[in-house]
Parts: sequence; C-alpha cells; structure tokens
Amino acid sequence: MKVNIPLLFKNICIDYGGYRGYLFKTKMIRDGEKVVVYHPAHDTKTPADHIVRFHSSGKVIYSKETNGFGGKIINGERTAGGVVILETIKNGKKFSEIYAHLNRKISVGKYVKKGDIAGTIIPYLTYWKGSLVRADHLHFSVWKNGGIPHLRYWGYVEIKDLIYFTNPYEYLQIEG
Ligand SMILES: [Zn+2]
Repeated sequence: MKVNIPLLFKNICIDYGGYRGYLFKTKMIRDGEKVVVYHPAHDTKTPADHIVRFHSSGKVIYSKETNGFGGKIINGERTAGGVVILETIKNGKKFSEIYAHLNRKISVGKYVKKGDIAGTIIPYLTYWKGSLVRADHLHFSVWKNGGIPHLRYWGYVEIKDLIYFTNPYEYLQIEG
C-alpha cells in the first residue's frame, strides 16, 4: 500500500510538498574525517514561522538549541537550532519523537497533549548545486525505547545507530 505522506503529517505541520525522505545516505566531513551517514528522519517542507504540533501526548525530555540544527551555515558549520524531543508510549512501548529546526523553547519536563504546539519552523539555508537556497523544513524522526538519541552529524546518524530508529511512516500509522 502506498502511503500518503502529507496525510500522515497533517496534524503535525503544513506540508508544501515532500522533501527528503527516510533513510537516504550521504557523506559528510566531521572533525576532519569523512563519514557515511543516514538520514533517520522525514523532512517536511514547511515555511518558516509555521506551527509544529506534537503527534502524541507525552513528556518533553529535551528542548535545546543544538549544534547543526540551525538555519545558517557559518564557516562550513551549521549553526545551532531548536530540537525538541517528546517521550511517549505506544502499545506499551516507549518512543521518542524528535522535532528539529524549531525556534520556540518549550520546557523540559513539561507534559504535553497531542496537538499542543512544539514550536515554529526557523528559516533554513542550504547549498543546492553550489548556491545558498532557502529550504525551511521540519525534521521529524522517531527513536525506539525512549531516551535521547545521539545528535551528532546534524541529525544524521551512522549505520550502527540506525538500530535505534524506527520508520516514521510506519510509526505515524500506529493508533493511540
Ligand atoms: Zn532532516
């Protein structure tokens, strides 16, 4: 069955027509070394200042300006941007929902309900075929077992860390 992705995200944010999907592979240089990394998230094209809402009820376990999630690139390094992580329970199992490229700071420890505001999208610049372009989006991923995932590599992960992630499209279809 083909999944209608904008429909899956309809309660989280506005979708201006797909962006990067789950699990694509790329290379980046970190600390002088080339690493192969994977994108454990779905990027939804959503313009700056649009509201992002929580998919689930749960507890905010991380809310911070985090390196590599910002909207600008300075000296080859991406600036810090807001990342919010919600811990929730589905079918008796713990999950963490990761929302990135947000501006609003919600407090850690806060209990929120499905549909509550997680934040708003920040303006995001990226290189595309050699020029800087606007690419505002929500980066959404899901980590199994609860807890806070590694946030190295600007939201990408090494292959060994993929075991902690779950397919966001399957996750968004879980009831409850
Ligand atoms: Zn992303």
